[in-house]
Amino acid sequence: MELSDRQEEIIEIVKENGPITGENIAERLHLTRATLRPDLAILTMAGFLEARPRVGYFYTGKTGSELLTEKIKKFKVHEYQSIPIVIKESVSVYDAISTMFLEDVGTLFVVDESSNLIGVVSRKDLLRASIGQKDLNLIPIHIIMTRMPNITVCRKDDLLIDVAKTLIDKQIDGLPVVKDTDIGLEVIGRITKTTITKAFVELVLDKHL
Ligand code: ADP
Repeated sequence: MELSDRQEEIIEIVKENGPITGENIAERLHLTRATLRPDLAILTMAGFLEARPRVGYFYTGKTGSELLTEKIKKFKVHEYQSIPIVIKESVSVYDAISTMFLEDVGTLFVVDESSNLIGVVSRKDLLRASIGQKDLNLIPIHIIMTRMPNITVCRKDDLLIDVAKTLIDKQIDGLPVVKDTDIGLEVIGRITKTTITKAFVELVLDKHL
């Protein structure tokens, strides 16, 4: 977050004189309280200053990068997850490839008749299965998929930063977001490297201020 000269000046005043009222800050800057209000709101929301009723403004002592870290650690999976593309275990490798192109995704989640998550198929899984095969219609997807219990999942209230770490540690492109049911895991979303990239760009554009 880029601070304006005036905002920097306000921080300096509060650092040296806090706790200090909005009115006193305004006086020092030869401005009206109303002119100052938006700057104080921004500095408080961003976490540089803290406002206590009837006392005034304090400097929190947090640096820009500490505040950024705090912000990132609040991102939850459900705020960013996108729609998962699922296929049935009985479909063929050929159908899975078609679905991947049609839906424009790199990972498909495989579910059983009761919609429980049972597998994951990536682009390379499909390439590997295709090499040297004449008829891809004859190979069912469940033969080539990565199957439970080896699937890494996440849940809607998990932190996005933890999912990002998992993607790196496990060297995979995405995770299904699942909901626990009586009979297994239902796929309700997906988080991919693209999701993380989007969050990163949004952060820089300051949407989460
Ligand atoms: P690609 O293979 O196209 O590079 P990935 O890196 O995502 O894509 O997949 C690598 C391997 O990990 C594949 O065999 C895939 O089936 C498997 N895989 C993908 N996502 C998961 C997951 N969430 N949990 C477990 N295995 C996964």
